[in-house]
Amino acid sequence: MQKLAAGNWKMNGTAAALDEVRALLAAHPAPACEMLLCPPATLIARLADLAAGSALRIGGQDCHAAPSGAHTGDIAAAMLADAGASHVILGHSERRADHDETDDQVAAKTRAAWATGLVAVVCVGETEAERDAGTTLAVVGRQLAGSVPDGATAANCVIAYEPVWAIGTGRTPTLPEIAEVHAHLRATLTARFGAEAGGMRLLYGGSVKPANAADIFALPDVDGALVGGASLKAADFGAIVAAL
Ligand code: PGA
Repeated sequence: MQKLAAGNWKMNGTAAALDEVRALLAAHPAPACEMLLCPPATLIARLADLAAGSALRIGGQDCHAAPSGAHTGDIAAAMLADAGASHVILGHSERRADHDETDDQVAAKTRAAWATGLVAVVCVGETEAERDAGTTLAVVGRQLAGSVPDGATAANCVIAYEPVWAIGTGRTPTLPEIAEVHAHLRATLTARFGAEAGGMRLLYGGSVKPANAADIFALPDVDGALVGGASLKAADFGAIVAAL
């Protein structure tokens, strides 16, 4: 399967950031992996214009479960697609924490994304307290069951394992710990979706940097990365792309 290097810009980036994308495209015109950048919604159309004809895909960071309507400040999946997005990140832990998003809501958003042809990048991950309590596999299994609707395929669904305590902290699980969770995710998906699960990309996210990317990507069942801070700079994201 082709691996995926996905960048999540979060609430960062104005027009000045377009230069980083130009630099990324110039340095990696034909990467071995698929490249995806998820900028704030305000930049999706401009990044999509820049990326037209290249190997770079553009995604949103969230969408509403409804197709349209009275939801001030929200954005519908069809609007992301209309702006040039092909993917959308759903259920990121910052949305689960800041906006009280539940697994049910993430599943509804995922169905909305699929209804417009977007690939959903569904995020799961334990808090530090949950890891300390030894419940990591149970937590991510529960999130996976609740957040990924029936109908997931290798083409429409990517799963990102992001330990909450590793996001933006410079800390990561050990390599065996990452491998253990990814094996559990694959087994859980296979039990539900059969052979199709073998082709679903499982990304690791949380403090992925050029320095640790190659070791993480060498693990079984790690099919790419969801990168936050290091996706903002073309040189850093490019180094991660090159490690895949
Ligand atoms: P980070 O964020 O790479 O800055 O840790 C990852 C994410 O939240 O997707």
